[in-house]
Amino acid sequence: MLARHGEERTAAAGETLFEIGDETYPFIAIVEGEAAVLDGAGQEIVRHGASGFLGEMNLLSGQTVFLTAVATAPMRYLAVDREVLRGLLFEDGALADLLLSAFVERREALQQRQGIGVEIVGPRGSAETRRLLDFAKRMKLPHSWLDPGEDREAAALLKALDPAEVPLVRLPGGAELRRPSNGELSRALGIGLELGQREEVDLLILGGGPAGLGAAVYGASEGLDTLLVESTVLGGQAGSSRRIENYLGFPAGISGTELTSRAITQARKFRARTATPYRAEALQPGEERHLVRLEGGNEVAARAVLLSTGAEYRRLPVADLDRYEGISVFYAAGPPEAQLCGAQRVGVVGGGNSAAQAAVWLARGGALVTLLHRRADLAETMSQYLIDELQRYGVAVRDRSEIAALHGEDGELDGVTLSDGERLPLSFLFLFLGASPCTEWLGEAIARDAKGFVLTGEEAGAEGLLETSVPGVYAAGDVRAGSIKRCATAVGEGATVVRFVHERLSA
Ligand SMILES: Cc1cc2nc3c(=O)[nH]c(=O)nc-3n(C[C@H](O)[C@H](O)[C@H](O)COP(=O)(O)OP(=O)(O)OC[C@H]3O[C@@H](n4cnc5c(N)ncnc54)[C@H](O)[C@@H]3O)c2cc1C
Repeated sequence: MLARHGEERTAAAGETLFEIGDETYPFIAIVEGEAAVLDGAGQEIVRHGASGFLGEMNLLSGQTVFLTAVATAPMRYLAVDREVLRGLLFEDGALADLLLSAFVERREALQQRQGIGVEIVGPRGSAETRRLLDFAKRMKLPHSWLDPGEDREAAALLKALDPAEVPLVRLPGGAELRRPSNGELSRALGIGLELGQREEVDLLILGGGPAGLGAAVYGASEGLDTLLVESTVLGGQAGSSRRIENYLGFPAGISGTELTSRAITQARKFRARTATPYRAEALQPGEERHLVRLEGGNEVAARAVLLSTGAEYRRLPVADLDRYEGISVFYAAGPPEAQLCGAQRVGVVGGGNSAAQAAVWLARGGALVTLLHRRADLAETMSQYLIDELQRYGVAVRDRSEIAALHGEDGELDGVTLSDGERLPLSFLFLFLGASPCTEWLGEAIARDAKGFVLTGEEAGAEGLLETSVPGVYAAGDVRAGSIKRCATAVGEGATVVRFVHERLSA
């Protein structure tokens, strides 16, 4: 099948197949011979032989090439153009299964290696450095951070710059950006659609978590001109989850990255447009069309709007938290964090299932983990199977514990004080304290409850079940007051909204 859609090519031993900085590369299925994949310093990462294939997540995201591949023996191979491959993934389920899971695993493996991808050069104490590091993490971009306090080359690089130009970002291939916005970095890497100054669509979806992606798949597949706008990275909270165990149809569980990568591929298959990173900043209700203003000045006029901006993790109410965030305090535990925390003392704060999942993941990576929570008994807030897992992996649990202060220097934590005065020597903290809705930007435009969640249906004085106080503006998923905070319900609500949008547009 690949032979039908690709081109058969040969390469001599030593020939370069693709190179760091190239704009694109084809998917390569090896028929005969062998190829090595190398990092920027020429270090070999992996070799693939006959029946193997070369390709990574960037074949789907559009990101420019950040690895080099060289034939190590004479090769005969099938080269399939990136766009053609995307089409094949829509049509062939077995191929899509194999490639998507390999791409996700390869990306996770690459994220654990130093010296691959984007280099962020900036000091530890700078909020702008932390913003870019956080964004790179959320994008799951392989990246390295060079701190001028520790790295001479980094110090020399920054010395020549104006402070307003720091941090410096070096892209694979050598191009440099000075204090780029998240959008500038994405687009320099070839990721994401660039929106026009003014767009007009049938359905505008704000937020690309499960609810937004669900609506995009159903909206586009049912013929609505659909645009999904996301302020950071597609996938939402679900995309940051290590493993979603209870999503229907995946009895062995599925990683959040894989579930959301599949959903993104599916939404694009039906020609939903997705644009990142664009933050919605204001909504102005109208008769025929509602107007949404995005960060950077773009405007979208839409006949129907779905609010699926979800919720954001709560922060600890302690002094100087921001100095530690992204360096030794985190809100998600993935492969880079597991690697960072091996053989370290780590605190995981929170009594819910996501705290337990992170604690187990970090403990399996070799960290000495203590789980701290406020209540008297974990069983009040956590599933029993996870309480058993905590025990199995040697996670210490401290009931009735709250953190009152953090201690450390330059963002590096060396201990915390609890509200009873006890000090614990912890080098890293992971916070899972629940979430607040991302709705402040709505101002008075839409009725919300006391906690800021968007009211729908009767409570909002609306006719439709998922309609807000403004006709033609809907809410789905975690952002909606009274919703069940789960992936399946978010997807279901997103899909349901599409039905209401059709009814409105046909009326
Ligand atoms: C670590 C973790 C583990 C979890 N595990 C499970 C599990 O095992 N099973 C399960 O069912 N659920 C799980 N959940 C819960 C589940 O992920 C959420 O219920 C689900 O993601 C909610 O989907 P959503 O689309 O409503 O919102 P979100 O997933 O919160 O997505 C909202 C999106 O909107 C974007 N956004 C916010 N503001 C704006 C703006 N102004 N403009 C544009 N975009 C904006 C955000 O960046 C985000 O991407 C887990 C959550 C976490 C954090």
